[in-house]
Amino acid sequence: METKLKELKMQLLEIDDLESAAALLSWDQNTYMPPGGAPARGRQMATLQRLAHEKSTDPALGKLLDDLQPYAESLPPDSNDACLIRVARRDYERAVRVPPSFVAQFSEHTSASFQVWKAARPENDFSQVQPYLEKTVDLSRQLADFFPGYEHIADPLIDFADYGMKASTIRAIFADLREQLVPLVQAITDQPPADDSCLRQTFPAADQLAFGLQVIHRFGYDLTRGRQDQAPHPFTTEFSVGDVRITTRVRENNLGDALFSTMHEAGHAMYEQGVNPELDGTPLAQGTSSGVHESQSRLWENLVGRSRGFWRFFYPQLQDQFPDQLKHVDLDTFYRAINKVERSLIRTDADEVTYNLHVLLRFDLELRLLEGQLAVRDLPEVWRERFQADLGIAPPDDQDGVLQDVHWYAGTVGGMFQGYTLGNILSAQFFDAALHTHPEIPAEIEQGQFDTLHGWMRENIYRHGRKYTASELIERVTGGPLDIEPYVRYLQEKYGELYHL
Ligand code: ZN
Repeated sequence: METKLKELKMQLLEIDDLESAAALLSWDQNTYMPPGGAPARGRQMATLQRLAHEKSTDPALGKLLDDLQPYAESLPPDSNDACLIRVARRDYERAVRVPPSFVAQFSEHTSASFQVWKAARPENDFSQVQPYLEKTVDLSRQLADFFPGYEHIADPLIDFADYGMKASTIRAIFADLREQLVPLVQAITDQPPADDSCLRQTFPAADQLAFGLQVIHRFGYDLTRGRQDQAPHPFTTEFSVGDVRITTRVRENNLGDALFSTMHEAGHAMYEQGVNPELDGTPLAQGTSSGVHESQSRLWENLVGRSRGFWRFFYPQLQDQFPDQLKHVDLDTFYRAINKVERSLIRTDADEVTYNLHVLLRFDLELRLLEGQLAVRDLPEVWRERFQADLGIAPPDDQDGVLQDVHWYAGTVGGMFQGYTLGNILSAQFFDAALHTHPEIPAEIEQGQFDTLHGWMRENIYRHGRKYTASELIERVTGGPLDIEPYVRYLQEKYGELYHL
C-alpha cells in the first residue's frame, strides 16, 4: 500500500504542477503580459489545462484509487491520507462523468459567449447575448444531467463550488435572510444618507497601495510567501502554500476601492497560505468551498476592516498618509462614510447590507431559468421587477441590470452566486465562534493586533484545507449547522447604531 500511496501522490502532484503552471500563465496574463502575448497565451493555457484534465481522468488513476480504498477505510477518517484518498476519488469521479467532447463544446461556447457579452454590455444590448444565454442554460442543464439522482437540477452545479449544499437548503436560508434584510434596508434608507465625499477626493495610487499593504501585513498576510500586483479585476491566485498572490485595482478618486479589496483578497490569500504545508501539492491544499473561502475575505474586509475598533487604531495613520485630504475629517465621519448604505444598481459596489439582496435575486433567477419556469427572453424584465421589489429601485437599462456580471456569460447558469452570501453568513458565524473562545479579540483589534484572530482562523479553518467539507467544518467550528442569526444580529447591531434605528 505504501508504494501505491506514493504513486497516487506522484500523479496528483503532476496534475497540480500542470494546473499551477496554467494559473501562473493566467496571473501573468492579468498583470504584466504585453498585449501581443494574447493569442499564444490562450493556446498555452489551453494546452496545460488539457494535459491536466487528461491526467485527472486517466483510468490508471481510477484503478489506483480503487486499490487504495480498503487502505483508506482502515485509517482514521480524518487522517491526512484518508482525506486525500476520499477527496481525490470525489474529484476523479466528477471529472470522468463529463465526456471530453462536452467539456470542449462547453468551453468553446463560453468563450464565444464571453466575447459577445463584452461587446453587448457597453452597447446595452441584451438581444445580442440572448441566444448565447439560452444555449448556456441548455448546456448547464445537460451538465447537471451527467450527475443523475439530484433533488434539484441546480444541485450538481452548486456542488462544483459549494460541495454538499443543495438548492432547497439554500433557498430556505436565503428566504429567511431576505425577510430580515428588506425591512432593514427600508429602515436605513428612510434616514438621511451618510456623506461619503471624504472618500472621493484625490488619493495618489502609490500611497493607497503602501497603506493597504501595511494593513494586510499586520493582518498576517505573509509577504515572503505572497505579493501584490495591480490588475483590472482584483483576484487571488495560489501556486503552492509558499506562493499565494493577490492583485488589486486602484482608483485615485475613490479611497475605499483598493483599500477594502486589498483586505478582501488578503482574506482569501491568508486562507490558502494557512493550509498545513504537509498537504501542499495535493487536492487538499485549497479552500474547502466558495462559501467558506468568501467567509474569510468578508471577515477581514467587513467584520474587521469596516469596524470602528479597527479604525480607532488605523485612522490616525491613514490621516498621516493623506494629511491634505483627511486632516479635517474626524473618525466618526470617516466610519460613517465607509459604511454608507444605499439602494444601488451594481452588486460589486454594493454595501454590506444591500449586497446580499443582489445575490439572492441572482440565485433565485438561476433556479427558475434551470427549472424552465423563466425564459431567457423574459429575464431583463423579471430582473427589473425583482430589483424594484427588493431594493426599491429598478435599473434604467440592461447594461447596469442583467448584463452587469460576467458569470452567466462565461460560465454556467446555476451555482455561480450562492457562495457570496453563504460567505457573508459564515463570516459572522466564524467570527462569533472565535470571540467565544477569545473575548479579547475586539480589544486587540483596537490595538492593531490580529495574531489571536488570525491564529484561531489558521488553527480551526485554514490548516485543514479541503480535508473537511463545508458542512463538516461549520459543525466542527461552531458546533452547529449554517445559521443566519449571528450575521443578522451583526448587521442589526452595527447599522442600528449607525443609523439610530
Ligand atoms: Zn472574494
